[in-house]
Amino acid sequence: MDVGFIGLGQMGSQIAGNLIEAGHRVTVWNRSADKAAPLVAEGASLAATPAEAARQPVVMSMLADDRALEAVAFGEDGILASGTPTIHVSMSTISIAIADRLASAHRDAGQTFVSAPVFGRPLAAAAKKLFVVAAGPAEAVAICQPLFDAVGQRSFNLGETPNKANIVKLSGNFLIMTVIESLAEAMTLAGRYGVDKSMLLDTLTGSVFGGLIYEVYGKVLVEEKYEPAGFTLPLGFKDMSLVAEAAVAAGVPMPMLSLGRDRLIATMARERPELDWASMAKTVEANAGL
Ligand code: NAP
Repeated sequence: MDVGFIGLGQMGSQIAGNLIEAGHRVTVWNRSADKAAPLVAEGASLAATPAEAARQPVVMSMLADDRALEAVAFGEDGILASGTPTIHVSMSTISIAIADRLASAHRDAGQTFVSAPVFGRPLAAAAKKLFVVAAGPAEAVAICQPLFDAVGQRSFNLGETPNKANIVKLSGNFLIMTVIESLAEAMTLAGRYGVDKSMLLDTLTGSVFGGLIYEVYGKVLVEEKYEPAGFTLPLGFKDMSLVAEAAVAAGVPMPMLSLGRDRLIATMARERPELDWASMAKTVEANAGL
């Protein structure tokens, strides 16, 4: 399939590489053009603008946040200005508000909007092990299915309204934050009683706390390996702020979210922004005098 790909950061570069490997003809664009070079060497075409990348039946975007997506979609040379009835598949973790805005702007431009955020860190992206959470007009989602299959281990279809995929993604990231916080508290407590982190984690994940998130983030906490980050502190804070925005709009109090968001603020004040968001465990430890 001919597909455009916009946003070649940690996640996007892996996803675009897997699309090429699966035999799709990929046209890439990134704000910092140098990041496109390795993919061009693998056979991708280089677009001069997002609009040019969008002159394909499908264009996928994987960008940092709402602001980046806004620039790439609504900008002068943006996807909406491509003059092509493309399907825009947004894989970024974004707000409900911008998903709604994009769905209607694309409809008005004779285009289609599909939300398809993903679960899985850059290593999972590299291994084609992402979980794709998709929602949008059924026909468009069906057209995109071979693309989802090329980059992920499983995809979920949440129906016709794009923002449903975004709220599921935000809910999942909220739960990941609570796992990091609670594991960090448990490890700090057990450490005080002479149980080291790996002994605690092996016992818990080997008994009643099996599961990918406990295992992946538990390992990060045990090894205190916060660099290179799979998912940085500012991106984690961005996501928790998006959850807060959605919660306020819906009138849903989320006290655990407030605690975790404050923990991220404190960690960003203490640490460097390049660290993984799991480094919020360092603030938990510091509060215990460690
Ligand atoms: P990243 O490495 O920081 O890449 C961000 C991308 O956005 C880069 O291509 C960057 O371009 C582009 N960008 C930022 N601001 C822009 C702007 N104003 N205009 C145009 N382009 C802009 O981030 P990532 O880790 O790949 O994450 C991308 C998205 O996936 C985020 O929404 C994140 O929440 C989500 N996500 C991440 C993970 C993870 O574990 N990393 C997992 C699941 C979902 P430049 O190269 O020019 O800076």
